[in-house]
Amino acid sequence: MKTNAYAAQTAATPLAPFSLQRRELGTHDIAIEILYCGVCHSDLHTARGEWQGTTYPCVPGHEIVGRVMQVGAHVQKFTTGDNVGVGCMVDSCRTCVNCEENLEQFCPATVFTYNSPDKHTNGITYGGYSDRIVVDEAFVLKIPPNLDLAATAPLLCAGITTYSPLHRNHVTTGQKVGIVGLGGLGHMGVKIAKALGAHVVVFTTSSNKVADAVRLGADEVVNSKNAAEMQQHLNSFDFILDTVSAQHDINAYLFLLKRDGNLTQVGVPAEPLSLNVGSLIFGRRTLSGSLIGGIQETQEMLDFCGKHSITADIELIPIQKINEAYDRLVKSDVKYRFVIDMASLQQDS
Ligand code: NAP
Ligand code: ZN
Ligand code: ZN
Repeated sequence: MKTNAYAAQTAATPLAPFSLQRRELGTHDIAIEILYCGVCHSDLHTARGEWQGTTYPCVPGHEIVGRVMQVGAHVQKFTTGDNVGVGCMVDSCRTCVNCEENLEQFCPATVFTYNSPDKHTNGITYGGYSDRIVVDEAFVLKIPPNLDLAATAPLLCAGITTYSPLHRNHVTTGQKVGIVGLGGLGHMGVKIAKALGAHVVVFTTSSNKVADAVRLGADEVVNSKNAAEMQQHLNSFDFILDTVSAQHDINAYLFLLKRDGNLTQVGVPAEPLSLNVGSLIFGRRTLSGSLIGGIQETQEMLDFCGKHSITADIELIPIQKINEAYDRLVKSDVKYRFVIDMASLQQDS
């Protein structure tokens, strides 16, 4: 199935038009016309080779929303014309302990939506910066009917990556929760923590995001570059979610946790972060990581967002502006997720 896409040919080259073939439909597969794809900072880290291990050409994109074009003979959950989503994974082994516990993201054989070995083509997987994709129905999500499709795309990664640790850490009414970094993940974290009933404090380095943070649901906003403002929150947080994509001082946040509080790191800076273990020891605090969420939990998150009418605040862009969007992400100039309107791909053909 001929597919138009945008790819990076090397770590140093901008994304440009690229043509690829999607596999023929298997019995459990769904062919999806991609309508929108969110732009995650992980796309940038991968396309620009910041994490090592990128295979080129690289077609990023794992916040996919589209419409079912065709279904395989044994597909049960979906039918032609359905609005569907695909997130960061398109397959896994289905039999290991992680798969059995619906935590496919930790399966040793997880097939990520892009830059993973693809058994069907003997090449690598190509992601959502493209006009169609073929995915096994077990990795396809249902979109709640009340949500705007373009603004729903970011839920497929930014939504689940923030929902999963907030939910797993039992964030609820009356708790004080910090969200560090107001980008794609951070702004979803604010909305979801607020919907769970928490008192939400946003930590930002961007003074021009303060008013938006309040509009998005923050009860308080802290300029994280101001030490005095940070000091006012010492020993007071139940939970902090750190979404920052670049080097920064996590110890400053660990000291803001209460005794036994937890800071969960979801941002993946290219370089290691340094840890002052005293921040953990004095206060018995914990530092954790979290990786997206399983397929069942992703559907639960979408249904939660449907119930609470939560979508992303997006800037819809044509795909021809993707390199400009990447440059803006590096400068924290995002309000609050770029989403590609895939109809724009036709302008190149
Ligand atoms: P994003 O939209 O670019 O947001 C990152 C935000 O971090 C920025 O908007 C900025 O917020 C803050 N920031 C950036 N540079 C900073 C610096 N030097 N010091 C302090 N703060 C800084 O990125 P995203 O798409 O939300 O992704 C965030 C990170 O999560 C990326 O590393 C991505 O790869 C990772 N990620 C992880 C998972 C997972 O499963 N764990 C899933 C998806 C993404 P302010 O302007 O408010 O300061
Ligand atoms: Zn992502
Ligand atoms: Zn498995």
